[in-house]
Amino acid sequence: MAHRTSQDIRYLHRFEVMRRFYADAENRTRQELAAATGLSFATVANLTAELIDAGVLVESGRQDSGGGRPRTLLAVNAERGALIGVDVAETSVRTELFDLALRELHAEERPLPPDDVEPGDVVARIEESIAVALEVTGTPRQRVLGVGVSVPGLVEREGGVSTYSPYWSWREVPMRSLLAERIGMPLHLDNPLKASTLAEMWFGEGRGVDDLVVVTLRAGVGAGFAIGGALYRGATNSAGEWGHTCLELDGRACRCGSRGCVEAYVGTRGILETLRTVAPADPLLQASDDTEALRGLALRAAQEDPVATEVITRTGRYLGAALGSLVNVFNPQVMVLGNQVVQDLGAPLLSATRAALADHALAQPLRAVDLRCSALSHNAVARGAAASALEGFLGNREMFGPVSRTRGARGRTK
Ligand SMILES: [Zn+2]
Repeated sequence: MAHRTSQDIRYLHRFEVMRRFYADAENRTRQELAAATGLSFATVANLTAELIDAGVLVESGRQDSGGGRPRTLLAVNAERGALIGVDVAETSVRTELFDLALRELHAEERPLPPDDVEPGDVVARIEESIAVALEVTGTPRQRVLGVGVSVPGLVEREGGVSTYSPYWSWREVPMRSLLAERIGMPLHLDNPLKASTLAEMWFGEGRGVDDLVVVTLRAGVGAGFAIGGALYRGATNSAGEWGHTCLELDGRACRCGSRGCVEAYVGTRGILETLRTVAPADPLLQASDDTEALRGLALRAAQEDPVATEVITRTGRYLGAALGSLVNVFNPQVMVLGNQVVQDLGAPLLSATRAALADHALAQPLRAVDLRCSALSHNAVARGAAASALEGFLGNREMFGPVSRTRGARGRTK
């Protein structure tokens, strides 16, 4: 943050303006953009002029201003190019292709070979699925503005290296150069946590929120942060590994090798471990996969089954304590809870969590935070990866030239 330059601030303002088009309206006047972003009208006029020059925005009509001069409506130029988002998950590769208005033109998922997946297997699947997406939609390669790829685990973004993957025995895999050789389009590498956070910032509950925490709860657990409207990455892009902070000293073994991590209590496996503690012979522990077991638990809780209710209550207590630390440390305006665990366990988990949160967060930051459930569909990672590619495109210095129109660039009015 200390290195934020006027150029960076300009990118952030550009992102803010663009997010308004993806938020709730396809057409916006400059006056509406200024009101919605809190930027001055002059700043918005400069930013939109640049975006029009780059072909990103187009004039789409006029709006009656009630007596004054009609106001020009602006819209995203969907035809400007395509964005691709790729979500590499444990068992599959999901690829989605969007136009610049972020309308999905193609989506497909192809399985990864089971067991020990080699980087070469993943790269080949990504390459195949991108080729299919381009062919099916009739998109020439040169029209692709960027490809965002989410790879599980820790991803060191600048070097494009997947430094650690929880699923596979990957260490220091040079994903970017492996992919660049085969794909030949602008590449943006991230992990699912960063992609989910970007998805909330561009399409979800995080729109227009300066200080945001996005909590992802599935097999893996993490927290993504936006500070001052920008995704916070940390020194080496591994910020947000909250799932591997300690909730209980000498507690349960975690797959990261440590003990007592948050993930070992509120991730899918952690919740089933709690079930094992409460009812060691419970039939759900024999379920063929964790997703099925979690859904079974939710169904039984809805029927007021005491074991299921106890498991969800305990999970809420763990989660509330762990979220309390985030509230105290970050003082967020909005905290979004998302992914499989929240979707499956829903309201009962949330009420248990809220109750525990009140015991662990300080009163003042707790009052300030708005706790919300994600409204995005189950698989927002590919979409978030596309948002990462969109940010890469919008931050491209060559595309938008030097900062020549800086007048009013810092003219935030609120
Ligand atoms: Zn851990």
